[in-house]
Amino acid sequence: MAVNTEAYKKIKAELDSRGVTLVAVSKTKPASDIQQLYNLGHRDFGENYVQELVEKESLLPKDIRWHFIGHLQSNKVKYIAPFVHLIHGVDSLKLLKEINKQALKNNLVINCLLQVHIAQEETKFGMDKNDLIEIEKSNQTTTEMKYIKLQGLMGMASFSDDMQKVRNEFKSLKHLFDKYFLLLTPGSPLATLSMGMSSDYKIAIEEGSTMVRIGSLLFGERNYTTS
Ligand SMILES: *Cc1c(COP(=O)(O)O)cnc(C)c1O
Repeated sequence: MAVNTEAYKKIKAELDSRGVTLVAVSKTKPASDIQQLYNLGHRDFGENYVQELVEKESLLPKDIRWHFIGHLQSNKVKYIAPFVHLIHGVDSLKLLKEINKQALKNNLVINCLLQVHIAQEETKFGMDKNDLIEIEKSNQTTTEMKYIKLQGLMGMASFSDDMQKVRNEFKSLKHLFDKYFLLLTPGSPLATLSMGMSSDYKIAIEEGSTMVRIGSLLFGERNYTTS
């Protein structure tokens, strides 16, 4: 399957006009597909497996901004710390601490988004409102963790045909973002709200998303059965 460059150009223009950042989700796709969008000027790519990301990073141009969008285990942070641009799925204080530690080792600051659980499905990872309040109160993120930069929140809506449900989930994330996240990062007006995928990105933007993660519309359906 070739990259859908027409879809890319259309979506990119649509997002640019609204000031929304496009993360092209290239998981399971070959490095040559990424190179194709890179040649059109694209730089933000998202992956959700550490090993796959490390491999692709070694093959592709160094000015790509790599977004880690999967569930990150603490013991794997060290592999992506040297180069990752933004970690979207931070779902515990423990993981934040480990990212801070690895960032210090590499003498850099790592950008992070806290993942919030908004879907009704139980399979999706993330924090809830109380975890956010906890992090805010602990104050550790701003005083002790000098090597991470909390940039915003990330969430995934339910996989559902019920678009009203999806919209309500995005609304709830936007509400938490306005109410709690901005308190965590006073003086950071450029905070990021990462929500929206191929099936629901238009709704996500209507509900206040500033960054969407789109895979299949750009790269075609993923096939997990062959490698
Ligand atoms: C795979 C994935 C996406 C992209 O999904 P598409 O439906 O292909 O656009 C976005 N976000 C996360 C966290 C993902 O794992």
